Amino acid sequence: MTNYKHYCKEWDFLEIDADSPEFEACICEIDSDGRGPEFHSGDRVYVHPMRQEATVIRQILHYDGPESFWGNLELQYDDGIKGTSHSWQVKKVNTQWDNWKANREFV
Ligand SMILES: [Zn+2]
Repeated sequence: MTNYKHYCKEWDFLEIDADSPEFEACICEIDSDGRGPEFHSGDRVYVHPMRQEATVIRQILHYDGPESFWGNLELQYDDGIKGTSHSWQVKKVNTQWDNWKANREFV
């Protein structure tokens, strides 16, 4: 069942779902559980089958009837080659920026 319940950043984080009138103006990238993508543009990842790092271009939202879910990743390797990988075949690589953010959360 389609729900899309989430705290919408278009509406000051008002809690809305697909039945709300505000939903028409919602441009959030969410799956049918109201979750955003696990991987974001610019994330560094290690791609196990390729044994190299890459940069995420985007995570693709898949549709299966009324359900939608976050699936494959479009990636760009450091030599400029683009590819697609299953999200379970990659893991995020901590960047200095991630470490900086993680440290800030404890301040
Ligand atoms: Zn929204």
